[in-house]
Formats: sequence, structure tokens, C-alpha cells
Amino acid sequence: MIVLGFESSCDETGVALVETGAGAAPRLLGEALHSQAEMHAEYGGVVPELASRDHIRRVLPLARQVLAQSGRTLAEVDLVAYTRGPGLAGALLVGAGVAVALGAALGRPTFGVHHLEGHLLSPFLADPAPQFPFVALLVSGGHTQLMRVDAVGCYELLGETIDDAAGEAFDKSAKLLGLGYPGGPALARLAEFGDPKAYALPRPLLHSGDLDFSFAGLKTAVMTQHRKLGTNVCEQALADLAASTQAAIVDVLAAKALRALKASGTKRLVVAGGVGANQRLRQTLDAGAKQLGAQVHYPPLALCTDNGAMIAMAAAMRLERGLAAGSTDGAFDVRPRWPLDELSAAAS
Ligand code: ATP
Ligand code: MG
Ligand code: FE
Repeated sequence: MIVLGFESSCDETGVALVETGAGAAPRLLGEALHSQAEMHAEYGGVVPELASRDHIRRVLPLARQVLAQSGRTLAEVDLVAYTRGPGLAGALLVGAGVAVALGAALGRPTFGVHHLEGHLLSPFLADPAPQFPFVALLVSGGHTQLMRVDAVGCYELLGETIDDAAGEAFDKSAKLLGLGYPGGPALARLAEFGDPKAYALPRPLLHSGDLDFSFAGLKTAVMTQHRKLGTNVCEQALADLAASTQAAIVDVLAAKALRALKASGTKRLVVAGGVGANQRLRQTLDAGAKQLGAQVHYPPLALCTDNGAMIAMAAAMRLERGLAAGSTDGAFDVRPRWPLDELSAAAS
């Protein structure tokens, strides 16, 4: 099955062509992405109206690029998938509108995907793919959750953040350190030159006994430290603070993920979402899992943050398991608010 996937839930326009089925590993035939990060940077956050307009400008040229790159034609597409939610309503409508129009024009079904299920199943685009059941650590810009995953659509929430998401903790700390927006990757780069033990920052809820997270207090601690450094802060002190911040976030994420893994009785941990690109997190989880005789699966590095490939992949996995039928009636809808636990293994 060849699936054309569209992602437009927030500030990335992603289009990809994925081939699955016939007992072979899924293949990414083509992929294109445009990030609006630079456009929103001067506002310090995503401006919804600007996001929608930019998706409109980008989506068709990106789709053409993907087809050209893959050497395939639209006639070869079996299914058109798009992000149905959660996300910004206006942004979601762009991907949904294009996907449904394309499906209708081609006489092919369309399918609306849950964005977080896309993240969650993105490691199936890696080799080797994970096997069910597994424990999943979903760490993105808007979510931080630990889940037990028994099959596609069987998601049991084990714990989640009670305030900020891990990606938000990276981004807000980066902003405090003057690294721009969204600064997660920039903070990680600066941290490479710093000493993670230089500043004693809190590890919120590390010993809470449950699998929940809290990152709001950490941000305040970073702000206090940064103030103490004064306005004439040297590069090394800034790098040390970045490294200490990253270490605090990673320590909590890794400790709780490994605790969940241990309790689950499975030997597989799947990491998904933008923060899954973080090298310190990967190293810490790999080392911890090794001690438990377990394996950690990640999406390919470029597919940790938002992309069209994970949307195409999630649609294919649902349809191949008979969990849903693509719609052919030309109707489309989006769900800006859509908790993952409302998504069941039953046909939607
Ligand atoms: P959600 O999926 O919850 O709606 P989102 O789509 O905005 O949120 P993603 O695209 O999965 O989130 O991830 C973006 C987040 O990942 C940002 O917060 C970004 O700073 C963070 N991030 C990306 N790369 C890294 C990295 N190397 N280290 C730390 N954080 C990173
Ligand atoms: Mg983004
Ligand atoms: Fe996302």
C-alpha cells in the first residue's frame, strides 16, 4: 500500500510517501518538510493565523517535491492520510482540506490520523522496528507521557506531566538563556560544551513513587540561576547552565521511563516525539536499558519532530489491521482537542 501523508497540526508542513505491506519493512519513498520556526521566532511562539497561511503556501509545492523525489505519480497512491488532531484548528484544516480534495480527485480513500499516534508509531519506520507490547515514552513539545502499548490502538496511560511538557521545558529554558525560540536543539548543542554538574538544579517528582512528571519548577530554578549570573555572563557559565538544565530534564525522563519499563515486564522501550532526538536522553536510556537487558527503539533522527511520514505510517498500520476504513465520502473534519485515550482499537 502506498500512502501519501500530510502533517499540518502546528508549525511544520510535512508531506511524505510511505510504502507498506507485503511482509516487507515499510519504505520511506519520499519526504519533504518546511518548518515555520524562523517565521514565528520574532513573536516568541507560534502565531496561529500565520501558521495556517504558511501551510497553504507550502503544502502543494512540498507534495510535488515528494512525488518527484520518489519517482512516483499520484495515480500510484492508494490512500491519502492527514493529521486530524490535536493541534491548531486553522492549521489542521489546511492538511485535511488538501488531503480530502486529493482523495476525491483520485478516487482514493482518505484517513484522519491522531497526531500523537503518529509520533508513537514513528519508530516503526526504523530498522529494526519494535514489537508489541512495549513501554512508550512520548516526549514532544506539547506532551510528556509514559504508556503501555499492547497493540495499535491499545494505549494505557501510565503517567504524564502535570504541568509543562519536556519539550516545553527545553524551549522555555532556552528562551531564558537567550537561545531563541524554539530553543530545545540550541540548548542541547550549547550543553555539549558545558558541565552538567556545574549547577544543582531540581529533579522534580524524581522520588514521587508514581510515573508523573513536572517541569514548571525547573524553569523557575533555571531563571533564578541565570539571574545570579548577571548580565555579563560568560559563554562557559551559560554552557554549564545549559548542560545542567539538560541533565535535570534527562535524569527525570530516563529514571521514570526505566522504572516503567522494569514494572511492565516487557523488554522494549519506544521513545517518540521531538525530545527523542536529544543525544543525552538517548545515551542515558540506552545505558539504563542495557542493565535491564532491554532494547530502546527510536524513530529515525529526522522523524522525531513533526513530519508527514509518521502520519502515513500510522494510517497504514491502522488500516492494515482493519482498525478503520478510509473515508471516501469527501467529508473531512478536524479535532483540535483530542485526548489520545479517546482513540480506541475499534474502528473509528
Ligand atoms: P505535540 O506533538 O505534543 O503536539 P510538537 O509537535 O510541537 O508537540 P514535536 O515536533 O514532537 O512537538 O517536538 C518539538 C519539541 O522537541 C520542541 O519542544 C523542541 O525543542 C524539542 N526538541 C527537538 N530536538 C531536540 C533536542 N535535540 N533536544 C531537546 N529537545 C529537542
Ligand atoms: Mg514544531
Ligand atoms: Fe508533534
